[in-house]
Amino acid sequence: MNAPVRVIGAGLAGSEAAWQCARRGIRVELCEMRPARSTAAHQTDYFAELVCSNSLKSDRENTAPWLLKEELRRAGSVLIEIAHACAVPAGHALAVDRTAFSRKVTATLSQEPLVTVIREEVTRIGEDQITIIATGPLTSERLSQEIARLTGSAQLYFYDSISPIVEADSIDTSKVYRAARYQRGTADYINCPLSREAYERFYDALVAAQSVEKKDWEKLNYFESCLPIEEIARRGRDTLRFGPMKPVGLKDPRTGQPPYAVVQLRQENLRADSYNLVGFQNHLRFGEQERILRLIPGLENARFLRYGQMHRNTYINGPLLLRQTLETKSNAQIFFAGQICGVEGYVESIATGLLAGMHAACRVEGIRSEGPPRASALGSLVHYVTQADARNFQPANITFDLLPALSVPVRDREQRHRLQCRSALEEFDRWLEELNPAMRT
Ligand SMILES: Cc1cc2nc3c(=O)[nH]c(=O)nc-3n(C[C@H](O)[C@H](O)[C@H](O)COP(=O)(O)OP(=O)(O)OC[C@H]3O[C@@H](n4cnc5c(N)ncnc54)[C@H](O)[C@@H]3O)c2cc1C
Repeated sequence: MNAPVRVIGAGLAGSEAAWQCARRGIRVELCEMRPARSTAAHQTDYFAELVCSNSLKSDRENTAPWLLKEELRRAGSVLIEIAHACAVPAGHALAVDRTAFSRKVTATLSQEPLVTVIREEVTRIGEDQITIIATGPLTSERLSQEIARLTGSAQLYFYDSISPIVEADSIDTSKVYRAARYQRGTADYINCPLSREAYERFYDALVAAQSVEKKDWEKLNYFESCLPIEEIARRGRDTLRFGPMKPVGLKDPRTGQPPYAVVQLRQENLRADSYNLVGFQNHLRFGEQERILRLIPGLENARFLRYGQMHRNTYINGPLLLRQTLETKSNAQIFFAGQICGVEGYVESIATGLLAGMHAACRVEGIRSEGPPRASALGSLVHYVTQADARNFQPANITFDLLPALSVPVRDREQRHRLQCRSALEEFDRWLEELNPAMRT
């Protein structure tokens, strides 16, 4: 009997990878260090914990995040299936009850006879066992050193941050309103409108607030799409109004006009008893967060279930180290998946977990496998991770920028995206049809 595939990290990527092996009859050892050792962001011992937002992004047809999820649905992703089973209302987005979601992933994998769960921190990587490293942006320090040794590269990291969550019944509903931007989809978001005066007061307090540590902020290497609000604010008085506090398309029913600025709150769980402040990741001291966020109309008496935080983000230099199958160039037994391989985001992590699991299963079975087609969202992600400029490599989300241009230019954006999605799915289906019969599913 073949040795089991070792999957290190039962996060989003590792859980999906383990399932993809098991569903093909391959034994798996799934190693997770929590609860014995946790990370700065995880709060439970569940698998696939969503550490910040509860959103798996847009599920509106012909958007890039939809395309990625659609490919995952077609490829039989268990995590996306569970996400649908645990969905909460969030307009066009697929958002989940985070506790129900990770509980269900944990139960599914724990009950799978081919998966043996080992709850311990892995610090060494055996180079003669098929191994998927999926330990995420908060990989433990000792394993990071081992990965640095294995890959011959110095550790790479930058800084990201997470948004606060408030209790629903602490929101003053007389001051807020429900609306979807441009009235698209259902009005699932709570909007806290700010007048010019309220915005100015909030802005001044924010830029004067104390951060957790006295760091030289200019030198921190942030991921641009996850900047802390205080950092965005420092870039200009109105920058927040063009970013997370953008009011356009969000008419206040009391005035019939969009407010000067707005803070949006998104439902966190099925019980709808908690909401997160969308895009309000920050790194302020907890007391400062309470004081400043309570300046937002409707949140004057908000009770915080979680404060914003900043964290380190670990990833390898994919373009230097990985092949299209997500195995390392130096050792075909070692695969990387999830954020550590150079993607950013929950669904992107699930996607690379699915691929690493499929390829590892092929390796056990002695089947030659190819990466997904370049035209697909999965193929484009892999292309980015393995072919981007290695000198300035940073993890990326799926966007249409990563997909190849159409052979014939199309000016209309919606039409172009529709055609890109159609071509992506046609090629993706062909790839699946060729791959699946060779593998046990
Ligand atoms: C604080 C924070 C906020 C984020 N917010 C968002 C967001 O809002 N939306 C979004 O799309 N993405 C977000 N991301 C980015 C990313 O999508 C998530 O981190 C995602 O969970 C990555 O999936 P993963 O499977 O790669 O890692 P994870 O889900 O973090 O899983 C890695 C697992 O490996 C375990 N582990 C680590 N080291 C070891 C070891 N040595 N031995 C055994 N187990 C180990 C960890 O305990 C963890 O369970 C955020 C990241 C962080 C850190």
